[in-house]
Amino acid sequence: MEKYDVIVIGSGFGGLISAAFLSVEGYRVAVFEKENYAGGLCASFKNGGYTFDVAVDAVGAMREGEILRDILKKLDIESQLDIICLDPIRRNIFPDFTIDIAGTAAEYKETLSKLFSSEKEGIDNLFSLMRKIYKQSIAMIFSGENNDIRAYYDWLGKPFSALLDNYLTDKKLKAVLSSYCNYLGLPSSRVSSILVVNTLMHYLEGGAFRIGGGMQNLIKALVGVIEKNSGKVFWGRGVKKILTNAHRATGVITEKEEVFQAKHIISNIDLKTVTSTMFDIGEIEEEKAKKIKELEVSASFVIAYIGAKMDLNKHKVTNSMGYFSSYETMDMFNINKNISYGLSIPSLIDPVVSPEGCHTFIVYWPLSGGKEMGGKEKIADILTRSVDQIIPGFSRSVVLRRVANAKTFFRYTGNSDGAAYGWSQKAGFYTNLPFFRNIVDNFHIVGHWAGFGGGMLPVAISALKAVSEITNKKMAALRR
Ligand SMILES: Cc1cc2nc3c(=O)[nH]c(=O)nc-3n(C[C@H](O)[C@H](O)[C@H](O)COP(=O)(O)OP(=O)(O)OC[C@H]3O[C@@H](n4cnc5c(N)ncnc54)[C@H](O)[C@@H]3O)c2cc1C
Repeated sequence: MEKYDVIVIGSGFGGLISAAFLSVEGYRVAVFEKENYAGGLCASFKNGGYTFDVAVDAVGAMREGEILRDILKKLDIESQLDIICLDPIRRNIFPDFTIDIAGTAAEYKETLSKLFSSEKEGIDNLFSLMRKIYKQSIAMIFSGENNDIRAYYDWLGKPFSALLDNYLTDKKLKAVLSSYCNYLGLPSSRVSSILVVNTLMHYLEGGAFRIGGGMQNLIKALVGVIEKNSGKVFWGRGVKKILTNAHRATGVITEKEEVFQAKHIISNIDLKTVTSTMFDIGEIEEEKAKKIKELEVSASFVIAYIGAKMDLNKHKVTNSMGYFSSYETMDMFNINKNISYGLSIPSLIDPVVSPEGCHTFIVYWPLSGGKEMGGKEKIADILTRSVDQIIPGFSRSVVLRRVANAKTFFRYTGNSDGAAYGWSQKAGFYTNLPFFRNIVDNFHIVGHWAGFGGGMLPVAISALKAVSEITNKKMAALRR
């Protein structure tokens, strides 16, 4: 029976970051991945000469001195990557105007203040609070308890709309600032203010980036670190059971009935599946297991991955865009009403992902509560035709289209209902944290089920937290 210091279940971004750090620290690490490729939602796929990222549109917090850049440096993989800065971060099209989210908070604030001049003071105050919340969230995690985290706590259980209402009055301005709520799958009146603020600010403060050639290059570099440091990745090896002894995780059994032992088990996979199927009955506290079973998961998406032969020079497009047909955030979730959607065109800034004279388009529509209303191809048809509003003639230029929906995301990642960000990102979300702690000893959760939120930055933070628990090193010491 093979023995390791640490077994990691799942090779999503969280699993790979934790495995890479631990292998560099000298731990004998094994990663078990059910698919024959790594990355989960950070994977890319190739089709007909095009390379598509499965999910991620923009990676935040990668500017010099920011967390994800520090991680790349610490793992010595920065120089292997083509890190492309997005400026503007996004272009959002609303019924009455188009507005760019510029590359910095100062520029974005100025754009908003010009467009909504009567709200300038409120905008200034709102942005200084949002900066405070972002900085306090990071400081709390990396430098312990001695920080002033009052702004963070003041807004912890409140929805984003409450924060906007505190500073602003204009309905259109509030809709503009709520654009990220849609991608988190909830209206601003329900979504956690902390999660929206940190999503927006980790791009504005930390920069927004793409990885040249696709996210898979970052994933490949992380696997390289693990293997270079004597770690092992087992491909096509789903884990079906976690072994325990006296309330302590001790190993795993794979789908192929192989048994592996380890001193620590890290789970990078859907926590509902883990707690309901992978432990022996009675191993997990009943109340905890029940609560986790009942918790809501986040939204999923219908996504059309499209290759099209066309010249974009005469069109006003950027790498990353949002089309909003109204100022009502809930309208975005109604395919039969005024469809709104996100559109990425990665080949605009990274030509290697498409054949010459062609472009990659990723059109995404968030599903609230996993409800799809109609088949995925029908929705993709509507989305494809809708892009004609931004790029006239687009639908006639399509040469290739693949479509994913919640079922696809579930099939490839095992995330319940194809959840894009793990748990529902609603206000009060952080009160669930105690249920994810102390499930059994020497068992650690990383990834978007760990309770820090969805997206690459929270996922990386969860991985560093697990590494800190195992190595007894402080989070700040791991980062720098
Ligand atoms: C459409 C979409 C767009 C997004 N856009 C962005 C964005 O622009 N920026 C951003 O920061 N975030 C974005 N996100 C969120 C982000 O992609 C995720 O939060 C993050 O990638 C989740 O990483 P993870 O480590 O939790 O693992 P996951 O990506 O969920 O990976 C889990 C891994 O575990 C494996 N696995 C599952 N079960 C088993 C098992 N039993 N045994 C072994 N292996 C198993 C899976 O195959 C998979 O490889 C987006 C998500 C979606 C869906």
